[in-house]
Amino acid sequence: ILRIEDLRKSYGVFEVLKGISFDVYPRQVVGLLGRSGSGKSTLLRCLNFLEQPNAGRIFLEQEEVGVRSAAGGRKPVPAARLAYQRRQMAMVFQNFNLWPHMTVLENITEGPVKVLGLSKDEAVAEARSLLVKVGMETKEDQYPIRLSGGQQQRVAIARALAMRPRLMLFDEPTSSLDPELVAEVLKVMRDLADAGTTMLVVTHEMAFARDVCDRVLLLHEGQLIEQGPPAEVMLQSQNPVAASFFAGLR
Ligand code: ATP
Ligand code: MG
Repeated sequence: ILRIEDLRKSYGVFEVLKGISFDVYPRQVVGLLGRSGSGKSTLLRCLNFLEQPNAGRIFLEQEEVGVRSAAGGRKPVPAARLAYQRRQMAMVFQNFNLWPHMTVLENITEGPVKVLGLSKDEAVAEARSLLVKVGMETKEDQYPIRLSGGQQQRVAIARALAMRPRLMLFDEPTSSLDPELVAEVLKVMRDLADAGTTMLVVTHEMAFARDVCDRVLLLHEGQLIEQGPPAEVMLQSQNPVAASFFAGLR
């Protein structure tokens, strides 16, 4: 569903991503792991062009995202097409980013009505069924500030799903939550995985990576140094840097 070829990104002379290539297959859950500063967020942001990669190609279901500029770097395709391509990859952030002046229900229906062109009734019906999925059906009239972090994140997941993406990108969705709220968000993500949602998940939750991910990627200083099934990568890596990364977490 997603193919990344030799993706590169620098900030000034500092090369954050040094040629990243991998595929995500339909219905797979791929975990993206690595130390702080290894480039995980930058990679996700390049995928949907929140940041512009300097080089490399991204294909979403055979269609290239962005177009090649004369200099050989990357630049976006026409705005409408890029907006469409981005929508296929819905992003869930560490800090939820719900709209504070809208209720839970309005947060979820806004995009489908304004962007997808659903009628208000259709959008509300779909939002309610998504709220059931994330266990938030009793809170549709609340404003985000009245919700716990875990509840806000579950609403943010419902909002992302409402845009009917082809895959979900998660950037450390539980790392700003109090420990007792982490489980409820991970449970929702497990349910999505079980339902066959394609997901690319940046996480430090090793139990989630081990139990839910089909494949994990380990990013180190801007390069993928290891990838494969979680049990193999996490317990039997022959790469000394990878082995020490995982040993440090046990
Ligand atoms: P974390 O686990 O802490 O979220 P990360 O793996 O997501 O880390 P990134 O946020 O992708 O790491 O950052 C990778 C490197 O790129 C860091 O050294 C960071 O300082 C640098 N960086 C990120 N964004 C910018 C920017 N806009 N300008 C300059 N440098 C940046
Ligand atoms: Mg990050």
